[in-house]
Amino acid sequence: MEHKIDPRSIALPQASAMISAISSCVHCGFCLPTCPTYQVLEEEMDSPRGRIVLMRGVLEGSLEVSDATPYLDRCLGCLGCVTACPSGVQYGELITGFRAFASRKQHHGLATRLLDRLIHETLPYPNRFRWAMRLARAFLPLRALFPRPLRVMLDLVPQHLPSQDRIPQYNPAEGKSRGKVGLLVGCVQQVLAPEINASTIRVLSANGFDVIVPSGQSCCGALGMHTGNLEAAQHLAARNFSLFPEGLDAIITNAAGCGSCIGEYGLLYRGTAREEAASKFAAQVKDLTEFLHLHELVPMSSPGENLRVAMHDACHLTHAQGIHSAPRALIRQIPGLKLVDVPDGEICCGSAGTYNLQQPEIAAELGAKKARAIAALGVDIVVMGNIGCMVQIRKYLDQLAPGRKIQVMHTSELLALGYPR
Ligand code: SF4
Ligand code: SF4
Repeated sequence: MEHKIDPRSIALPQASAMISAISSCVHCGFCLPTCPTYQVLEEEMDSPRGRIVLMRGVLEGSLEVSDATPYLDRCLGCLGCVTACPSGVQYGELITGFRAFASRKQHHGLATRLLDRLIHETLPYPNRFRWAMRLARAFLPLRALFPRPLRVMLDLVPQHLPSQDRIPQYNPAEGKSRGKVGLLVGCVQQVLAPEINASTIRVLSANGFDVIVPSGQSCCGALGMHTGNLEAAQHLAARNFSLFPEGLDAIITNAAGCGSCIGEYGLLYRGTAREEAASKFAAQVKDLTEFLHLHELVPMSSPGENLRVAMHDACHLTHAQGIHSAPRALIRQIPGLKLVDVPDGEICCGSAGTYNLQQPEIAAELGAKKARAIAALGVDIVVMGNIGCMVQIRKYLDQLAPGRKIQVMHTSELLALGYPR
C-alpha cells in the first residue's frame, strides 16, 4: 500500500515496523473472513484491511485520531489476520505501535479513564487483584446500581475465589533430573486459578525437570503493551529479567497472553537501554506445550475411558506464537482420550485480554458463538492454554446450558491427570 507517512512524525522507535506493515499490505482482503469483528459487524472499517487504511490516514495526517479509534478500539488484537495474510503483513506490530501513538494524541472521557485506571492498577498486581475481587464480591448484591462498565466487571467476578497456596521456589524433579526450568507464574491467573501453576509444576516434575519459581515476579507487561502504554509495560516487565538464575533450559509460561507479549519484547524495548536484556530474556521463554513437545514424555496413565476432549486454540498461542500442533501432540499421548477440534477454531472467543470489559457486546457475541460450537461437539472437556479464554468460555457455556457440565480445563491440568501422585 502506498503511503506518504513521515517516520519522524510518529516519534516512536516502533515507527519503521509500523510503516513496513502498511507498505506490505496489498489490499487483497484475504484476511477479512478470519477477522472476528468483521464477521460480527460486517463493516470494512472493522476489518484488518480497513483498519490498516485508517491507521495510514492518521499517520499521514489526513484523518483525525478520534475518527479512527472507535474502529481500532474494537480490534481484539487476536492476530487471526496475520495467520491469514499471504503477504506477511505484521499487523500486530502496526496496531501495538499505533495504540502508543494514539494514546499520546487522544483524551478520553472521565468514565473511560477511570475504567482504564482501575484495570491498570489492579490486574497486573496479584495482591491488589485478590483484594479487588473480594471487594467486588461484597458489592455483587448492589450490581444493578453501578454504571455499565462496572457491571460488566462484576459479571466476571467468580463465585468462589480459590485459596492461595504459596508455591515453593524450588520444586525438585521426580526421579533422575534431566534439566532445570524456571516458571513464570502470571498475575491474574495465579489469583483465579492457582491450580494451573500447580499442575504445570506437577507435569514438569513428573517429566524429570526441576522447577525454579523465583518470588517477586512482575506482570509481563501485556496489559500496558496492548493498550498503548509502552513505558509502563517496559518498566513493569523489566523486573523479571534479573530474577531467574543462569543455566536454565527454559523459562516456562503457561499463559498464551504472556508468551505472546514476551515474544514482542524486541518491539516493546526497541531503542531502549533494556533492549538487549529483554531479547535475552524473551529467547529463554517457551510455552509449556512447546517445551514439553521437544522432549519425550514419561508415559501417562489414563484418567478415564472414552473421554471426549475439544481443543480450543487461544489466539495468542496459535496466531501470535504459531503453536498449534504441540498441545495436540501431547494430549494425544494421554490414554483413553478422543481429541476433537472446535469448528472455526481460528476465530477468537472474545476474551482477548481486557476486551470483554471494554467491548462487552462484541465479546458476548463471540463468546456465545464459541460456546455453541463447543457444546455441539458433545465433549466432556474443553481444553486450552490461556486463563482469559477459560474465564470467557466457562461463562458462555454456563449461560448456554446451565447444569450441563463441560469441564473447562487448562492443558497443564489435563496433562497432570495423566500423572496422579
Ligand atoms: S490479507 Fe494481508 S495483504 Fe491482504 S488485505 Fe489483509 S493484511 Fe492486507
Ligand atoms: S487482530 Fe483480530 S480483530 Fe484485529 S483486525 Fe486482526 S483479525 Fe481483526
